[in-house]
Amino acid sequence: MPLTGLLRKTEPHVLTAPVVGFAHVTVHYNGSEPALHDISFQLVAGERVAIVGPNGAGKSTLLKVIAGILQPSAGSVEVYGHGAGGHICIGYVPQRTQVDWSFPVTVVDVVLMGRVARMGLFRHAGRRDWQVAAESLVQVGLADLAERQIGELSGGQQQRVFIARALAQEAELLLMDEPLTGLDAPSQEAIFTVLDALRDRRMTVLVSTHDLHLAAERFDRLMLLKRRLVGLGPPAEVLTPANLRLAYGAQMTVIQTPEGALVVEDICCEGHER
Ligand code: ADP
Ligand code: MG
Repeated sequence: MPLTGLLRKTEPHVLTAPVVGFAHVTVHYNGSEPALHDISFQLVAGERVAIVGPNGAGKSTLLKVIAGILQPSAGSVEVYGHGAGGHICIGYVPQRTQVDWSFPVTVVDVVLMGRVARMGLFRHAGRRDWQVAAESLVQVGLADLAERQIGELSGGQQQRVFIARALAQEAELLLMDEPLTGLDAPSQEAIFTVLDALRDRRMTVLVSTHDLHLAAERFDRLMLLKRRLVGLGPPAEVLTPANLRLAYGAQMTVIQTPEGALVVEDICCEGHER
C-alpha cells in the first residue's frame, strides 16, 4: 500500500449531513460507456443496505468511489459532509479475489492495521491498541485464532477478521464487496450475526452481493444497479419485475406465480467474478 493510503482524513462530521451523499456521480474507466452513470442517493446512519445487480453493474466501482480509491469523472461525493478520500471513519473490505492471501501476516496483525490508521505511521502499537484489537476479535468470535496466519482461515473467517479491523479502526461506515460470495450458509450466518451486533453501535453497513434472496431478507434497503441506479428502497419496492428486467435483461427469467410471489432465476455467469 502506498504511504498516502495511510494518511487519513479526520475532519469532524457535519452532524446534519448524510453518511454518504452522491450527486450525479459518473465514473468512466477507459471504455466509451461509463461504469456508473448519473448516480444520486443518500445513506442514513445505522442502516444496512445491499448493492445488487449483475456482473459489471458497477457495484465494486461504487464502493471504491466511497472508499476514496477511485475519483468520479463527474458529480460530487460526500461522506459525513466532506469530500470523499481516505476517511478514517470508513472500513473498506475488498472482494476476496483482490486480496493476496499468501501475505505472511497473522490475524491480530491484520486487526492492528486498523489501529495504525488511527494512530499514524510512526507510532508503535501501545497497550490500548493491543487491547482494542483483542476486543475486536472477541466481537467477531475469532479470539482463538489471533495468532494464526490469515491465509489459513476459511473465507468466512477472513471476512470477519476484516470486520474486526474496521472495529479496531473505530469505523462508522463499513463497506464490504461481495463478502457472502462462495460461503456456505453457516459461514454467511456467522457474518450476519456480527453485522446484527454492529446495529447496536449504529454502524452504517453497505454490502455488495449477487444473492437477491439474502439481500431481500436481511437488509433494510436495496440499491439495484445496472450502471444507472435502477431502484433504491425497501426490498419489496425495488425487486419488481420491471426493475429486475431493466437490471438483468436476458440474464434473468422473472416468473409471477399465482400466489403473487416472484420467482427469479439468475442464469448469469456464476463464478465469473471480476
Ligand atoms: P461489478 O462489481 O458490479 O461486477 P464493476 O464495478 O467491477 O462491476 O465494473 C463495472 C464496469 O467497469 C464493468 O464494465 C467493468 O468491465 C468496468 N471496469 C471495472 N474495473 C475496471 C478497470 N480497472 N479498468 C477498466 N474497466 C473497469
Ligand atoms: Mg464487483
